[in-house]
Amino acid sequence: GSVVIDLKNAIRTIPDYPKPGVQFRDITTLLGDARTFRRAVDELVQPWAGLKIDKIAGIEARGFIIGGAVAHQLSTGFIPIRKKGKLPHQTVRVTYSLEYGLDEMEMHSDAVLAGERVILVDDLIATGGTATAAVKLLRSIGAEVLAACFIVDLPALGGVQRLRDMGVPVRTLVGFE
Ligand code: IMP
Repeated sequence: GSVVIDLKNAIRTIPDYPKPGVQFRDITTLLGDARTFRRAVDELVQPWAGLKIDKIAGIEARGFIIGGAVAHQLSTGFIPIRKKGKLPHQTVRVTYSLEYGLDEMEMHSDAVLAGERVILVDDLIATGGTATAAVKLLRSIGAEVLAACFIVDLPALGGVQRLRDMGVPVRTLVGFE
């Protein structure tokens, strides 16, 4: 079948997780299958094969798994963007809003040099709150955010549009209404 249908079928949906009414899209089943894991990574990197990219930035925690594979594929460095308090060296930090309340994420302030070309990676984009905060963090230390890519988009929540409004091209592979 088509790549997109295969990838979509490889994602498991968990009803009422982490709370009633939420349909959690679980990509561990896609990652656990050699063929769909490889296909997802190949499809994510396809628009940037052959371009000059310095680093992949992955968002904790599932963005580390996918971003690490993407960085290897594109022969780039990898930067972890983490929940506050996890990184040992000097960091830059950004506050962003969750459904209830605020959270903070950070990266090492020397993780990217000014002008370096970075692609942001995470497993899923919903409202875009997490990804737009990550873009602000990267831009705050002078990175050029070439694009953001995600295996899953929940288009009803508008995150892709929010990123595009910030001038970031977005690639997603599978949408769930
Ligand atoms: P956003 O900030 O609203 O776009 O939410 C995206 C963040 O929440 C990402 O880091 C995702 O890993 C996580 N997330 C939200 N919903 C889901 C889901 O259904 N499955 C997996 N991760 C999710």
